[in-house]
Amino acid sequence: MFLQLLPVSPPPQGNSRLRTTNPTCFCQSLSSSFSTTALAATGNRIRSSAAADINTHASPGKYHTLLTRNKEWASKTAHEQPNLFPALAEKQSPEILWIGCADSRCPETTILGAHPGDVFVHRNIANIVHHTDLSSAAVIEYAVKYLKVKHVVLCGHTFCGGVTAALGNKKLGVIDPWLMPLRQLREENHEVLETLDPKEAGLKLVELNVLQGVRVLKENPTIIEAMQDHGLEVHGLVYDIATGALQELEIKEPVTLAVSRVTAFKTVY
Ligand SMILES: [Zn+2]
Repeated sequence: MFLQLLPVSPPPQGNSRLRTTNPTCFCQSLSSSFSTTALAATGNRIRSSAAADINTHASPGKYHTLLTRNKEWASKTAHEQPNLFPALAEKQSPEILWIGCADSRCPETTILGAHPGDVFVHRNIANIVHHTDLSSAAVIEYAVKYLKVKHVVLCGHTFCGGVTAALGNKKLGVIDPWLMPLRQLREENHEVLETLDPKEAGLKLVELNVLQGVRVLKENPTIIEAMQDHGLEVHGLVYDIATGALQELEIKEPVTLAVSRVTAFKTVY
């Protein structure tokens, strides 16, 4: 039903793939597209109502402001670093793969004081890493095997909504199966978590989640190979939203564990 509401006009002609968006007219063109194609063609009252809702509830102010800021940033950056964009257009050579939470308060490039091209990124709800997630697995393989990053960083953060949800019992929907690894950690560490107040329990589960994710990363055959071949390092961090500071988690493990892990998880062609 929703798909039928999409504009059906032909795509713009000419060099439109990267056309510059005019903040003052984007909404008008979108609205026009709705009214002259899908809506006019059907005359469907329900669709008209739905489209009206979309237009009425749209809040373009912040969006348009950000598009304007992008123009200013692009112009300023090109002036200050004239080689940056031409170099990035040729290739990328990031040294860091960052796996973090999708939370809007954790923008990795900003947190690190980095620049475009510095960090290859995968973010999801609550920075969960597990072996069967095709999305993160593809990102890891591309970053480690082909871009040959030198560091893989798994970063959790304080006040994580996903962690808070996993510490509660409210049914949320499709997010629930995604949070299962966190609930398993909650189950395994029930006795400890139960002694802590909600804030402390949240932070504890954040740390446990990062440590578990690092363990999963180190079991990834691509990462094992890169660690052996050129010393790839895997790090676990927690970002404090209240201060902006990153803290590296201390990850100690006996040599025997590292050996048995490689024995169990390394695969070769
Ligand atoms: Zn989060």
